[in-house]
Amino acid sequence: MSDAATLAFAAVLLFGLGLIFGSFGNVVIARVPESRSVVRPRSACPSCGAQILGRDNIPVISWLLLRARCRACGAHISARYPLVELTAGILFVALGWWAWQADRLGLLPLLLAWGLVGLCLAMIDVDHHRLPDALTLPMLAVTAGGLLLAQLLGDPGSWLAAAWGVVIWLGVVGGLWALSRGRGMGLGDVKLAPSLGALLGWISLGSAVVGLLAAFIVGALAGIALMIAHRAGRGSRIAFGPFLLLGTLIGVLVGEPIAAAYWGGVVG
Ligand SMILES: [Zn+2]
Repeated sequence: MSDAATLAFAAVLLFGLGLIFGSFGNVVIARVPESRSVVRPRSACPSCGAQILGRDNIPVISWLLLRARCRACGAHISARYPLVELTAGILFVALGWWAWQADRLGLLPLLLAWGLVGLCLAMIDVDHHRLPDALTLPMLAVTAGGLLLAQLLGDPGSWLAAAWGVVIWLGVVGGLWALSRGRGMGLGDVKLAPSLGALLGWISLGSAVVGLLAAFIVGALAGIALMIAHRAGRGSRIAFGPFLLLGTLIGVLVGEPIAAAYWGGVVG
């Protein structure tokens, strides 16, 4: 196969994987906040309780074929389900593209794990205004394991830079949590920060700084937009987890070139 054909095949494969894992992500988003098993029972229609058949559980396609209705009772099925699946597919392709062009494919398993879990955490935080320990705490170990795997696969990341990433992210997020007495940042954000800081720091110190700045810039813009739309008053709280995760994505995808442009390559 030519290089272009190989890349196209890899992109299709990653997109398909993203759809399938995104479908599982929908189960995680619905059940983890309620401390229910993500394995049993099988998915059922929330309206009539009918089990969802295998042929009706194909990511995106089933939703389209069923025209957003339950086969048993005809209840409307939210467009959120196929959108989460599509987002996971796009994330997997974007992360795969980044790892390939940056020559850091050893880091891809950890990036894909974060792509999926990060999407789930963002949706759960929007829904419930919390980041469950059941996801944030295991991801500390998954991140450490994923970085070790990357090192074994020859990825050039540095443990020292990863440690600095942890210090910067935990320092800023934990500091804001302490200063605001938990009103600006939640404890869930503090538990999320070290993993994201380690991942970004491992890529480069500049990525960790750009990712954190991006989280606050995007968060501030979203806050202003919501206030203009009168959907959030000064006292209302906006979940910050999605912005930490979005900032991380920005830090991964474009952190190094941005850092190099601003600091002339001195940082990272
Ligand atoms: Zn139904």
